[in-house]
Amino acid sequence: MIIKKLDQSNCSDVSEKLMPIVNFNSCGGKEDCVVVCPYDVFEMRTIADADKAKLNLKGQIKTFFFNQKAYVINPDQCHSCGLCVQACPEKAIKLTRFVKEDE
Ligand code: SF4
Repeated sequence: MIIKKLDQSNCSDVSEKLMPIVNFNSCGGKEDCVVVCPYDVFEMRTIADADKAKLNLKGQIKTFFFNQKAYVINPDQCHSCGLCVQACPEKAIKLTRFVKEDE
């Protein structure tokens, strides 16, 4: 029997993971994601000037009346359960794939 060593040239030290992305144009600061997330991934904060500058007209109007947004503060804690996506009344959250380099 001949055993060949696997070609590892295509292997890498990276793995894919999901994390939430919040669309600040849609986020109404209702805090449902903060309440529902079992892993404290979100925190409500006053929108930063840099994020405010990127808002479209709809986002500017929403933010004029309420300037709190859900910030993703612990992306590494996300377990991809999808509860925040379902809970958000504004459909402002999407789970997005990103590549995490292994240590
Ligand atoms: S997918 Fe689940 S664990 Fe990840 S941020 Fe949303 S509620 Fe939290």
